[in-house]
Amino acid sequence: MKAPWKKSISRVVFLFTALALSAGITAAADAPATQRNAALPRIVVLATGGTIAGQTDARSEIGYNSAQLSPKQLILAARGIDTIAQISTEQIASIGSQDMTETVWFALANRIRALFERNEADGVVITHGTDTMEETAFFLDRMLAPGKPVVLVGAMRPATANSADGPANLYAAVEVAASQSARGRGALVVLNGTIHGARDVQKTHTTALETFHSPNYGPIGYVDPSSVRFGVPANTPSSARPYSLKLTAPLPRVDIIYAHAQMDSAMIEDAVKRGARGIVLAGVGDGNCSKAAIEALQRASAQGLVVVRASRVGSGYVNRNVEIDDDKLGFVAALDLNPQKARILAQLLIASGVTAPAAVQRAFGEI
Ligand code: GLU
Repeated sequence: MKAPWKKSISRVVFLFTALALSAGITAAADAPATQRNAALPRIVVLATGGTIAGQTDARSEIGYNSAQLSPKQLILAARGIDTIAQISTEQIASIGSQDMTETVWFALANRIRALFERNEADGVVITHGTDTMEETAFFLDRMLAPGKPVVLVGAMRPATANSADGPANLYAAVEVAASQSARGRGALVVLNGTIHGARDVQKTHTTALETFHSPNYGPIGYVDPSSVRFGVPANTPSSARPYSLKLTAPLPRVDIIYAHAQMDSAMIEDAVKRGARGIVLAGVGDGNCSKAAIEALQRASAQGLVVVRASRVGSGYVNRNVEIDDDKLGFVAALDLNPQKARILAQLLIASGVTAPAAVQRAFGEI
């Protein structure tokens, strides 16, 4: 039987853990995951869960549960990783990335900023499910100054699968985060030997190892166990980032509405009724939709909502004033941003007080 004081302490710990878990945050720094070798770059691995930390389940041949293993266990599985960096780990959340939230995004952004400001890390690696990895990468890319490397990594197969891809991907991500040549490029995504920039990268296949592509420009670099190579120079910092880290969750509501044949105005009208501050159209082709939907979007824009035309197609640019008169209707063209990234940028802009179509368009135009 526990002493009464021990009972109340465990109650407090339980309560704290329950509160933190309900917010999607599990927090707390671990002891160093690898032996300290002061000559090596200091890399902090922030774990959020995902398939990379997944374990097989008996429910079917391919069934598994994500977010089961600790980041230390992931590090131990990546043989030789201690020869390229001094690694410490922190568990920020334990979720499949379909459950990713703004609360976790802000926790990541604030933790990374603190690590770099106090010079406690030379680079950060975030382990993350692949489903929403491009959204987290884009959010962090907008929120952090593009200095020391921030690298997101995941896996398409759980840690217990035959030929799990997590250990090699994690090794590669640490290599990139430890590399001087990765500095000044904003948030990066590393999987399957390729390095992608946050703006262009997108998940393109439900199960293949080669799922991440940068459909408009291609990967910005390649990584193998002996080299990190970039094919393009580092971006010059954009004036519009970082967005103020004083912003907090919840961000303003922005809904994505998917266009299709026989589209009516119902979903758009519902979004306005539910209090959306912005609407992103996942349009057909060049960000287009039916006349009824365009008229509803025009009404939304006239009421002050930010209306962004993106495309469901998966690559290419949505250009202004082609089939649709954006100037007249008060719309913004998403250019090369896919709907899920356009949503995040619209949220950050609205939260920063930027809602006039011309100003929103300028922010979308910045790379
Ligand atoms: N739903 C999982 C997730 O995004 C599966 C995808 C993955 O992790 O690779 O966390």
